[in-house]
Amino acid sequence: MTSAPLALAIDLGGTKVEAALVDPHGAILPGTRFRQPTGPARSSAELAASVDAAVTAALGSRPADAELIGVGIGSAGPIVVKDGAVSPLNLAAWRRYPLRDQVRALLVLNGAPDVPITLRMDGLCITLAEHWIGAARGVDNVMGMVVSTGVGGGLILGGQTVAGPSGNAGHIGHIEVAGFDDPCPCGGRGCLEAIASGPHTVAWARTQGFTGSTGEELGAAYAAGDEVAIRAVRRSGMAIGRAIASATALLDLELVAIGGGFSHVTSDIFGFIAEPIAERTQFDYIRDVRVVPSALSGDGPLVGAAALIHRSELVRAL
Ligand SMILES: [Zn+2]
Repeated sequence: MTSAPLALAIDLGGTKVEAALVDPHGAILPGTRFRQPTGPARSSAELAASVDAAVTAALGSRPADAELIGVGIGSAGPIVVKDGAVSPLNLAAWRRYPLRDQVRALLVLNGAPDVPITLRMDGLCITLAEHWIGAARGVDNVMGMVVSTGVGGGLILGGQTVAGPSGNAGHIGHIEVAGFDDPCPCGGRGCLEAIASGPHTVAWARTQGFTGSTGEELGAAYAAGDEVAIRAVRRSGMAIGRAIASATALLDLELVAIGGGFSHVTSDIFGFIAEPIAERTQFDYIRDVRVVPSALSGDGPLVGAAALIHRSELVRAL
């Protein structure tokens, strides 16, 4: 029996980098998933060493008869696809870092020098994963969102990914939301990420007297009926809803799938998200957008990076 063709999936984020081998059905091969730390305090050499270790381990776990058909890299943005470079907002040591070249060098060392590599934003990857095996199956106009330590997103329109010429389309976390003025590390003010990410929601709650320091603690306080926690979660949910209403006004989205740790703070957050969308009373197409929880497990980012290879017919070339 010949084993199925495999993609090497790499997910680079603000707290970790992961690599794994993924089969054509979107399943991670057992024993091939490896994780290394990243983080804003790490040097460029330390970040590179983490990528080296995760990717080398995943490549080394490849079954002897496996065919490696491609490498998909999902990275926190911004990125420059034509240069294979990444500048993750929360990894300060990497600005226009040549990640694709680093991965190419590792492929050469591991006897797979000619395998194609596709780099896109992590938000686009999770959107592909939702379309492939998640909440957006059969829906061709969709935005995937992650609400976690940051707020990210990606777009599939007309059944094709929309990445933009640089690869950065879908940065829903950095559209400005009416009624807010929170400063954002990107240089903007009132960006969705600066309002509604887990850490920023907790930080706002603390300005109102909340004494906890994590999203989990905020969720527990919400569940206990704490008034400040309720206001904080509602504030973030309303901001997310306004951003989705604006994105839908522009793009005529059918579905938005939201994942990420902070999207689980309480299921009530989806009710708050729905409020500003419902206010668009004269635009049925906006009010009709379905906003649903992600159907992906924690494998979503890696499955999505693999989709850059296994579902390449949806991935518009840049
Ligand atoms: Zn911003």
